[in-house]
Amino acid sequence: MATSSLSTQIQPRSPQGGFVNEAFVDFKSPSVARSMKAALDQLGGQLGREYDLVIGGQRLRTEGKIRSLNPARPAQLVGLHQKAGAEHANLAMKAALDAFESWSRTPVETRVSLLLNAAEIIRQRAFEFRAWLTYEVGKNWAETDADVGETIDFLEFYAREALRLASATTPIQFPGERNELHYIPLGVGAVIPPWNFPFAIMAGMTAASIVCGNTVILKPSSDAPTIAAKFVEVLEEAGMPGGVVNFCPGSGASFGNAIVEHPRTRFIAFTGSKAVGLEIHERAAKAQPGQIWIKRTILEMGGKDSILVCADADLDAAVEGVVASAFGFSGQKCSACSRAIIEAPLYDVFVERVRERVAQLTVGDPAANHNLGPVVNRAALDSMLGYIETGKREGRLVAGGSAPVTEDGGYFLEPTVFADIAPDAVLAQEEIFGPVLALIKVENFAEGLQVANNTEYGLTGAIYSSDRAKLDHARREFHVGNLYFNRKCTGAMVGAHPFGGFNMSGTDSKAGGPDYLYLFTQAKSVAEKL
Ligand code: NAD
Repeated sequence: MATSSLSTQIQPRSPQGGFVNEAFVDFKSPSVARSMKAALDQLGGQLGREYDLVIGGQRLRTEGKIRSLNPARPAQLVGLHQKAGAEHANLAMKAALDAFESWSRTPVETRVSLLLNAAEIIRQRAFEFRAWLTYEVGKNWAETDADVGETIDFLEFYAREALRLASATTPIQFPGERNELHYIPLGVGAVIPPWNFPFAIMAGMTAASIVCGNTVILKPSSDAPTIAAKFVEVLEEAGMPGGVVNFCPGSGASFGNAIVEHPRTRFIAFTGSKAVGLEIHERAAKAQPGQIWIKRTILEMGGKDSILVCADADLDAAVEGVVASAFGFSGQKCSACSRAIIEAPLYDVFVERVRERVAQLTVGDPAANHNLGPVVNRAALDSMLGYIETGKREGRLVAGGSAPVTEDGGYFLEPTVFADIAPDAVLAQEEIFGPVLALIKVENFAEGLQVANNTEYGLTGAIYSSDRAKLDHARREFHVGNLYFNRKCTGAMVGAHPFGGFNMSGTDSKAGGPDYLYLFTQAKSVAEKL
């Protein structure tokens, strides 16, 4: 383990200092803006590099390749990646099992220092990572900052949580015995992240796994493998032994299925769509020949998130919150507001105010820091345009609706708002995962709450009201994993807003919360007669 030899170059924060969220940077400051531009320029020279599979610390190449493209100018190759096939699953599993032998027995303090070292390396190179996120998935500056900050937060937070778990005790000591409780690792996990928080969610699920003593086969999204490759490089620099994280980009259908079905896979940490989450759930449930455990699945999935705007709401704040939640990162967040439910007395003025606010948003190259960058790929854009056609039949187009054509052929879409959408319309029920907002009129608060709860999802939600009784009622009856009062429904902070959804939004794992690491461990009770 090389972590201690790094101590002169990297000075990680002490876990004793307690957890504090990473501060956001202020891009209005000229020096910060200069740093971001410099990082984007510098990284320009590193685009198009080839990245290898990393299995057991060894670099491997495959015949098939994955091309990660800049969605703002798809002719630009961000990274060329290997494509692990089903045949690589055994190789990656063997490396992960071998590493598990020693990593699971490595003192927790060493595993913790790996995370803290990695956090510090990322902190030092934050502008570089922000720039990668702009190039690979089209995040504007503030969105890249949130993703990088959350990555550091997950590393710092889970490091401290692992220490807390390691000192767990039984609630009581039975008379005449010494009673102990040990949270021990599970084994080899498949970590399968989405592309939309390709740094934070990917790193968070990986870090939680390994800090508990597990080893991992990491299959990043084919839309964002480069940032994951960079993270694996950081872990290596931070002292990670070979085989602890095995980096294997590959298609979901071949490599993804193979690692989910592998009899030696002990757990699957997945974040992504409902359809894929349910498929993984089903495949993982089937015991394979030779399998001696029930696979654990941690599945965080889609959302159809609502903001309920009451007649007594602060109108300015509600307009701002809805627009920020709906169009931040072009609505490509699981927490994005895709439905605003508005009480009738405020409805007409709210629609008009949203229209005016949306008209101020700019769409364009995220490197130039527009409000909305591109959506992630051609298929996503086509799917969104399909929903916009449906919206034209189901409601009244208030803003947007078109895909601006650019010289570079980027996948841009205007922020789009439909009014007069019925609560059971397709636009009100299906996850679109793009910059398309449905406005729904309700007669009163009771009906609004009923509509807020009328989808199969239950991820985030918000309510704008100045009436304490309504907030209290919503606290009990608004059925989502992450509920916000008088603020936007995106932007969960590690530690403060443990994140995870109800119903078809997932297993409610509450990433960034005090219960998360339990999911990556099993508890062993030891009793000794005195
Ligand atoms: P996706 O489901 O298409 O893909 C997610 C991951 O699963 C990718 O790495 C993909 O390659 C892999 N995959 C696909 N098929 C697979 C299979 N058969 N077996 C194993 N792996 C497979 O999702 P996406 O487009 O990357 O991400 C967007 C979705 O993620 C949205 O639905 C969004 O709401 C959701 N999301 C949820 C949360 C949350 O915390 N609940 C957070 C972010 C994103």
